[in-house]
Amino acid sequence: MTVALSQTLRDAGLHLPALEGERARQGVSLLAGVALPGIAAPMRDVAGVLLPLMGGMQAVAPHMEALQAFFLCPVEPGREDARDALAEAMLAGRSADAIAEACGVDADVLTFVTGFVLSPVLHALVAVSMPESGEAPWDEGGAWQEGYCPVCGAFPTIGWLDRPMLDEKNAYLAGGGGKKHLHCSMCGADWKFLRGACPSCGKDASGTMEILRESEAAHGERLDWCTRCKSYCPTVDLREREAVPNLDALALGMMHLDMVAARRQLRPLRPSFWNVY
Ligand SMILES: [Zn+2]
Ligand SMILES: [Zn+2]
Repeated sequence: MTVALSQTLRDAGLHLPALEGERARQGVSLLAGVALPGIAAPMRDVAGVLLPLMGGMQAVAPHMEALQAFFLCPVEPGREDARDALAEAMLAGRSADAIAEACGVDADVLTFVTGFVLSPVLHALVAVSMPESGEAPWDEGGAWQEGYCPVCGAFPTIGWLDRPMLDEKNAYLAGGGGKKHLHCSMCGADWKFLRGACPSCGKDASGTMEILRESEAAHGERLDWCTRCKSYCPTVDLREREAVPNLDALALGMMHLDMVAARRQLRPLRPSFWNVY
């Protein structure tokens, strides 16, 4: 699906806006307050695949007709599209109430479904916009210092510590590894983050992080939690694993640690359907 989506994005002329230093320093995500005309087309493609699957969910089923009418209606180039406006509102953290009312869908249901519909589109948007080599624009020169996503503003679902980097041309160790990155499951972006700081409290909360491991043979899996605000984020140390896992799948695969965290009254940095008890 990603390949076809990338093409739809290119056809619609969609790509991430260039990073502006000042906006990034102020902690404004790339897509916050940005109009995305044309995103209706890839959203429609994704909804065509996802809506039939979501129809089985109890909360969604009664609204299926209205949801289909909204998401699957034809995209008419050059005309204002409520799907464009909905994507923009979601990414700016604004409420979708007015759009929901206009299209006759319950606002909570619309927001819930839109999260699923938007996510693959944003993944493709990040993928087509990444430089072919080198760092992501938000990692260059430490441009982005926040604990939430530089692209879509969501909190990370999982963190990871990188492996030692070998510079193949010069055959010396370019980096010792162990640098921390955060991963956003909403859009697929990864970004560097200070190891000792809390993604929720911010970069000022240095030295507040503790590590919770369940056992010795944990394959680098652990929770990094904050002693100040009690939020946690599952984290994997890739130096302790042979293969690089799919991070979105691993976040779900570390559910056993989410349960340990719930018993300790810690709260997930990014609540998901599998870590809210
Ligand atoms: Zn994101
Ligand atoms: Zn904190």
